[in-house]
Amino acid sequence: MKTSPLILWFRQDLRLQHHPAFEVAKATGLPILPLYILDDDTPGPWKMGAAQRWWLHHSLLSLNKDLDAQGGKLILRRGSPSRVLQDVLQETGAQSIYWSRCYEPFSIVRDTGLKKDFIEQGITIKSFNSSLLFEPWEIKNQQGQPYKIFTQFWKKCLAQGPRFSIFENTTLAQFYTHLKSEDLTTWELTPTHPNWAHGFSELWQPGEDGAHQKLEIFFTHHLKEYKETRNRPGYYGTSRLSPHLHFGEISPHQIWRCFQQLTNSPPSSESYLAEIGWREFCYHLLYAFPSLPERPFQKKFTDFQWKNNNDTLKAWQQGNTGYPIVDAGMRELWHTGWMHNRVRMIVASFLTKHLLLSWQEGEKWFWNTLVDADLANNAANWQWIAGCGADAAPYFRIFNPTLQGEKFDPQGDYVRRWVPELKNLSNSFIHKPWQASAAELNQAGVILGKTYPLPLVNHGDARDRALESYRQL
Ligand SMILES: Cc1cc2nc3c(=O)[nH]c(=O)nc-3n(C[C@H](O)[C@H](O)[C@H](O)COP(=O)(O)OP(=O)(O)OC[C@H]3O[C@@H](n4cnc5c(N)ncnc54)[C@H](O)[C@@H]3O)c2cc1C
Repeated sequence: MKTSPLILWFRQDLRLQHHPAFEVAKATGLPILPLYILDDDTPGPWKMGAAQRWWLHHSLLSLNKDLDAQGGKLILRRGSPSRVLQDVLQETGAQSIYWSRCYEPFSIVRDTGLKKDFIEQGITIKSFNSSLLFEPWEIKNQQGQPYKIFTQFWKKCLAQGPRFSIFENTTLAQFYTHLKSEDLTTWELTPTHPNWAHGFSELWQPGEDGAHQKLEIFFTHHLKEYKETRNRPGYYGTSRLSPHLHFGEISPHQIWRCFQQLTNSPPSSESYLAEIGWREFCYHLLYAFPSLPERPFQKKFTDFQWKNNNDTLKAWQQGNTGYPIVDAGMRELWHTGWMHNRVRMIVASFLTKHLLLSWQEGEKWFWNTLVDADLANNAANWQWIAGCGADAAPYFRIFNPTLQGEKFDPQGDYVRRWVPELKNLSNSFIHKPWQASAAELNQAGVILGKTYPLPLVNHGDARDRALESYRQL
């Protein structure tokens, strides 16, 4: 007779190393049934975006390969988690379900309901933290309230220090492989007509191996100069771990441990860990203020008069605003599913201040096009840039896209890569082609308004208009 298995429900924890739920499951000695459920009925607008579906497809393949190497098999099922789990319990006689916690408000509602229902049926449910250094409810200020200022939050985190144990892979897992799985290709997670994701695999290798390769590249080549180079979009200066972290192919604990093991920690380490800290802060905010993805954190922005203009929104989405650094960013996003952080800030400021389009429009576009789209990080950062978030940049701080381009992409490498129609312009005009002489434009083969758009708005006018709208709040 087959022993009933323990269900290990994978969600945003697509890895096998340092996976608390997997390790505790192994220790039970029960055969483990690894399960992934594709739930296309997420409430509200937050169904998984298109770029993330591409990532998920490849990450599931990778997880299945890693499980196979240990004698296991990933079971794929589509449908509502409640129904699928019920089916699998019945089909196998399993008595326990283990999972890693998710923190989106809709995930918390779902998991709380599932836990209650299954416990009533006598099923054992165990959940684990596998994706954050601190539980989002754990860090509190002196009044017992959540923090709203990053520096204070992170100081407290560092003083407290993350409490976790890194699990070493010592116990061998027994797997339950008798269940039928759906065929991943029938889920149609990757685009075909047209295959807009054809450039993604040049940059990304979804899965645990890919995550560790990125970590190693970063530690070996880029960490030392991270502080100086992290703002240069034309340079490989950041870790590019964001999609791997989002899908849980690597955990922040593993990254933290790598820093602890450095014998000579470079000054950049602190800056890098602070970025991991921002991720923790975004989750802290989302947990305390679950309306963060939909509504402004600062109530006074509720009545802000955002414009409604499909033409300018489309020009921004397609990278046709006439501001080279903005267009380069939006095209990098489309081609790779990722955008450099400095440029995310520039394009977000441009959307919300130069075009006066709402941050929610930008948030939605990023949600659909980023491979690292993450409810907490996306919402908190959009609100931060728009000026309506917690600890936000003040609304009147409006990025000048030309100066930002000149400062952070001084040689124009980034713009030349993503806006090739400008590649022959000299460095003096690569960030402001409208100021180039007719002769210079002619020589570079640029016809403004034809081969490259004229600026959608004039920076000075747009700035005045944004400030006026803010004054009217
Ligand atoms: C408008 C806007 C939207 C954003 N949307 C997302 C999103 O959906 N998903 C996402 O992961 N990041 C988002 N970010 C944050 C940041 O841009 C990315 O995390 C970063 O560019 C990822 O590249 P990296 O892994 O090379 O970063 P690194 O510089 O190597 O940083 C290491 C890790 O720290 C975390 N991190 C870095 N910066 C931030 C930040 N500002 N906020 C929160 N976490 C941070 C990420 O997990 C990142 O992988 C957004 C930023 C802006 C301005």
